[in-house]
Amino acid sequence: MILPLFKNHKMEDQRVKVAQLLKKSKYSMAFTGAGISVESGIPPFRGELGLWNKYDPKVLDIDYFHSNGKRAWFFIREIFYEFFGKAQPNNAHRVLARLEHSGLLQAVVTQNIDNLHQLAGSKHVFEFHGNSNRLVCTECGRLSDISDINLEDIPPHCPVDGSILKPDFIFFGEGIPPLAYEKSFEAARDCEVCLIIGSTGEVTPAAYVPNTAKRNGAVIIEINPEESLFTHSITDIHLRGKAGEELRIIENLLFE
Ligand code: NAD
Repeated sequence: MILPLFKNHKMEDQRVKVAQLLKKSKYSMAFTGAGISVESGIPPFRGELGLWNKYDPKVLDIDYFHSNGKRAWFFIREIFYEFFGKAQPNNAHRVLARLEHSGLLQAVVTQNIDNLHQLAGSKHVFEFHGNSNRLVCTECGRLSDISDINLEDIPPHCPVDGSILKPDFIFFGEGIPPLAYEKSFEAARDCEVCLIIGSTGEVTPAAYVPNTAKRNGAVIIEINPEESLFTHSITDIHLRGKAGEELRIIENLLFE
């Protein structure tokens, strides 16, 4: 339920309220989805302009990957390394990093695998779905940095045992990395304020993170030009705009 107190506020008042809440809170977290990277030129999977309108989601199915490594890698390379790979952090990533450095944000739980929070300078990032910048050996589990691997020949092979490498993000049919899972829910239990930025809330178990924050008493602030599954269930304040633009305004309110 949206708190009536916040619901009827004008957008300007709501932004001021968000800035005040962040200032006052002892532990704030951001929970981010594909929408935060849209202003960096990376489309979401779902929706009108989503990647699933162009690609078959089976290229990210773990069984398909194991039986059709070369073909899966052909699309993986195109989507995640030729296309995503060129993206740079936008204002939203940058403001979150600044909030963290200023002691106003304690953690970022991201569903994204594009490494843009880290590139922007955020340090406490819990990668719920992994990170495309690392590749993992399907046999020995050794991690390789993408910059050390030649993707001209696909599938790429492990420098140690020659087995096929897989991006170190989770495919359909794989579990959440245990440490990221544990840390994300710990942050959700600890936080007083949770910013949900650019997420439909349709992907589980990730969506349970902000729900856990709400159950533990956090104020939920959502930044999204559209409504999501969170909007009418747990959101207290909805800033209905683009992540980069809304966070720039919050930044001005906090620092200028
Ligand atoms: P999602 O749940 O991540 O939702 C995308 C949301 O972003 C939508 O609600 C949309 O209204 C919102 N949005 C669009 N533009 C925005 C903007 N400028 N500012 C704020 N919000 C904006 O949905 P998905 O894309 O189907 O993602 C499924 C899963 O795949 C998620 O885990 C997602 O994080 C991951 N994914 C990651 C990337 C990436 O790493 N950049 C890209 C695509 C998908």
